[in-house]
Amino acid sequence: MELLKQRILKDAEVLPGEVLKVDMFLNHLLDVNLIREIGKEFFRIFSSSGITKILTAEASGIALAFAAAEFFNTPVLIAKKGTHKNIGSECYCSEVFSFTKSVSYTMQVSKKYIDSRDTILIIDDFLANGAALSGLINIVSLSHAKLAGAGIAVEKAFQNGGDKLRGEGLNLKSLAVIESMNEGKIIFRDDDDKE
Ligand code: 5GP
Repeated sequence: MELLKQRILKDAEVLPGEVLKVDMFLNHLLDVNLIREIGKEFFRIFSSSGITKILTAEASGIALAFAAAEFFNTPVLIAKKGTHKNIGSECYCSEVFSFTKSVSYTMQVSKKYIDSRDTILIIDDFLANGAALSGLINIVSLSHAKLAGAGIAVEKAFQNGGDKLRGEGLNLKSLAVIESMNEGKIIFRDDDDKE
């Protein structure tokens, strides 16, 4: 998605540890016009898939999922991080290891809000090693809902999570795929928005 790639080149910062800082438009200060366009693009890609719910992880996936849900006219289901007593004991849970924070955490979704009648689109802001996305896929699988695919704003291809999950058959579309960001220079993979 050219608009997103241009914005990354203009404003994003490459931090030590192969982290791309995008908090000036995507996950701290939110550019609502850009995020609406991202939501529209996810709708263009997945509109024929019969989506009934969009699943995301708190916190930084929420804005993107909400923007997409306005076009799909579906609810957003947020996988909560940590253990939340108010969700109740009837939950689908995944253990996720965060490579950026070097900690494990639990993701949970109430069984009340997802079941085998659902067709789910997963949306998240970043895909790196794939642990967060695998946790969400596991929740969909436990619920016996159908997984239509996953839409990611920024994929860091050099961390291999995306290629691994594509290899396992996931219908994965990333709007900006970063091939490398050595010495602060961001290079995109050129096949990321041709579909
Ligand atoms: P993974 O589980 O695929 O290794 O990492 C995905 C999660 O880690 C995303 O949900 C995102 O919150 C966070 N993350 C991974 N890499 C980056 C990055 O370069 N920048 C930011 N802002 N978040 C990242």
